[in-house]
Amino acid sequence: MHPESPPYIPETCVWELTLRCNLRCMHCGSKAGKKRPLELNVTQCLKTADELRELGCKYVTFIGGEILLYRGWEKIARQLSRLGAQVNIISNGWSLGEKEVEQIKYAELINVGLSLDGMAGNHDKIRNRQGSYQRVLQAIDRLRAARIDVGIITTLMDFNLPDLNPLHQLLVSKKVTAWQIQIATSMGQMAAHQDALLNAAKMAEITRFFRVKSGCLAPVMVAGDNIGYYDENESCMRNLPGRWGTMGWVPGGTFGHRHRQRRQRPRLRIT
Ligand code: SF4
Repeated sequence: MHPESPPYIPETCVWELTLRCNLRCMHCGSKAGKKRPLELNVTQCLKTADELRELGCKYVTFIGGEILLYRGWEKIARQLSRLGAQVNIISNGWSLGEKEVEQIKYAELINVGLSLDGMAGNHDKIRNRQGSYQRVLQAIDRLRAARIDVGIITTLMDFNLPDLNPLHQLLVSKKVTAWQIQIATSMGQMAAHQDALLNAAKMAEITRFFRVKSGCLAPVMVAGDNIGYYDENESCMRNLPGRWGTMGWVPGGTFGHRHRQRRQRPRLRIT
């Protein structure tokens, strides 16, 4: 680093607390399932949380695996919230009941992101578990009843593309605040499903959808980092002053995000 360069500050952090998961999704980038042998315990994580804030970290997203399966996640999240960070989680929604809603309140999260990959048939197929669609819908309802902001993350392949319009209607009816759309990539479990990957020729269909739905008041449309870059709709998705942030997400694996000034509902942030 040049001596006059500003110090590097890790403002954002995506923290995969556990690899343990209750689903086995066909697009899972990290092949989640069992916890790793050397995952940090809560005491170690609390210390790490302190260190993150000392380094200047402002935004933390907890993921898994399934984050709600990590016992004590809410204590770590609460500590970061109390230290001034903006904290949220991404969950598959399967085990999000009333107890988990109380944990979310305790942790003082700014929002909760839930994964929803299509209407009932396609979502359950991708998530490899019957009933997972209904579980996500119940989770949305529980969170909204508790006045907690909800964002939805949808991962696209070839066969769930037709679900975009009905999904939009559903999310409007459920008063979801933001909707991130991204493309499944050939890694992890998805490497075995090459034939289901999105045909690149259909990218324009997605960017057009984005342009049209960006005109709606809600949900705020958020483009994953692997959507676009090719056509005239790009400016609707990124780089407009005052637009919402963009977040890149690899299913079940790594999130990365660039936080930008928010245009609407400033309490919400999804990664
Ligand atoms: S994609 Fe998410 S919910 Fe699905 S198996 Fe991977 S970590 Fe679990």
